[in-house]
Amino acid sequence: MRLSAFALSTTKETPADAEIVSHQLMLRAGMIRKLGAGLYTWTPLGIRVLRKVENIVREEMDAAGALEVLMPAVQPAELWQQSGRWDAMGDLMLRMTDRAERQYCFGPTHEEVITDYAKRDISSYKQLPVNFYQIQTKFRDEIRPRFGLMRAREFIMKDAYSFHMDDADLDREYHVMRAAYARILDRIGLDYRVVAADSGAIGGAKSEEFHVLAQTGEDELAVAENGRYAANVEAALTMASETPRPAPGGELRKVDTPGVATIADLCAALDLPAETTAKAIVVMGDDDKPVLLVLRGDHSLNEIKAEGIDGIATPLQFAEESVIREHFGAGPGSLGPVNVNVRVIADYAVQNAADMAVGANYDGAHFVNFNWGRDAIEPEFADLRNVVAGDPSPDGSPLSILRGIEVGHVFQLGDKYSRALELSVLDENGKSITPQMGCYGFGVSRIVAAAIEQCFDDAGICWPTAIAPFELVIIPIKADKSAAVRKACDNLYAECRNAGIDVALDDRGLRPGPMFADAELIGIPHRVVISDRGLEAGTLEYKGRRDSDNSQIEYSLEALRQK
Ligand code: ATP
Ligand code: MG
Ligand code: MG
Ligand code: MG
Repeated sequence: MRLSAFALSTTKETPADAEIVSHQLMLRAGMIRKLGAGLYTWTPLGIRVLRKVENIVREEMDAAGALEVLMPAVQPAELWQQSGRWDAMGDLMLRMTDRAERQYCFGPTHEEVITDYAKRDISSYKQLPVNFYQIQTKFRDEIRPRFGLMRAREFIMKDAYSFHMDDADLDREYHVMRAAYARILDRIGLDYRVVAADSGAIGGAKSEEFHVLAQTGEDELAVAENGRYAANVEAALTMASETPRPAPGGELRKVDTPGVATIADLCAALDLPAETTAKAIVVMGDDDKPVLLVLRGDHSLNEIKAEGIDGIATPLQFAEESVIREHFGAGPGSLGPVNVNVRVIADYAVQNAADMAVGANYDGAHFVNFNWGRDAIEPEFADLRNVVAGDPSPDGSPLSILRGIEVGHVFQLGDKYSRALELSVLDENGKSITPQMGCYGFGVSRIVAAAIEQCFDDAGICWPTAIAPFELVIIPIKADKSAAVRKACDNLYAECRNAGIDVALDDRGLRPGPMFADAELIGIPHRVVISDRGLEAGTLEYKGRRDSDNSQIEYSLEALRQK
């Protein structure tokens, strides 16, 4: 690609409304442009990265034997009514009505549609197993679309759905998909973890998530140091809460919040002893999930409510809001997952016992507090370690908490959708059975942002080569004054293209500084500079994106290939 004809549009300024580095750099590099909340245009630069991700995903899905389809984005309400999710999806689903007053949604996911398709086309055991996938636009009306493509409303997902005669075959395919996801992430070249997960609204039995590790990840992962156990914190909590254990003592109180601005005020309002300090607070209703914050000091509730709590508190998402409401609303006695959170936090951040956790609803209608001593917490944390090691021989390996970005999710759905939508096939004895289903989602657009969160420096993005918009950029020095430089650039550019190298030639006629800055900002992994001086010596100046210095290499494609 000749950059003079590429509509590159970079900026030095960090956009004010972009909080995380991937969002900032995607805007600065000119990969995306915002249309509205959670709605983005991919520019010519951005789409090159997106397509590379798509190609890797497509190749690995094809190699794993899945069959590509493309389903409508707009879906009739009847299917969702049949599965029971028309109501269950709530405000997450964008609904619409056509001219004949029929109701539709813009698909947030496609279990219903694929089951309907299978129902029309599959009737015999001879047609199973089968796995269909698509790469397609989804719409979810997220409460708080943010971080650019990371949590968008319209985004691109690869979703696959498999159908099986029995559980064992579903389990086999689940592991095929799990391995395909691992290959996709290995090829892209990112550091990731596979963790046990809750199945959430999609339903079903077994499920695991693929997380790209990054400081800004919205999810907390509990990972055993010996590598035998990894779960997202929600799943760890659910598992832990399912094991019976004594409920600690607790006290439910309500206070009026107007006068309560700090934790100290809160303690006063609750009439707690002066020496009581809050170690954790639950903020409700901010997102689709409550957030437990571990406090590192006395801060105003408004501060905590505001975004950017890093530095004063560590947010930990946990459990469904309904679970929390139930526990906080039910009064003392059945605190379930809340305790577990406090235990996780006690070990991870607070070090000392969490003396008290405070739950607050977001608009400040009431607060609830519980008192726990160290004694109540320590044994239960030990218990959690055992519970979360699914492993038959729990060895008590310490858990550490990592932050991750969910980029993929594999589920064993069982017969939830096939039963609800009445999909049946005949087995070899002519008996009708309900197929088992699996589903496998991958965030094609999200992983572009996730890759940047893991791969950047002060100068910009440092793409892994597999998804870089260009592999190599050729930068001429004083091309306007030197026919030899122009010719050498054109020749090398043509040679690279013939050799199948994804190359850009910066023929925009800029000064070297801005060309270097753009190449670094947009993250091209390899750079060569062609100048009269180099040509006289028969060399190219080479620099890898992460190299601190450049080096002279022989002027040949072979020498370049070694890099
Ligand atoms: P999250 O927990 O981040 O809300 P999810 O669990 O709701 O994601 P799934 O239903 O598992 O998402 O969808 C499969 C994949 O789609 C996710 O693993 C993620 O990579 C991607 N994805 C989901 N929601 C979004 C979004 N709002 N923006 C971009 N990608 C998304
Ligand atoms: Mg979600
Ligand atoms: Mg999730
Ligand atoms: Mg998920």
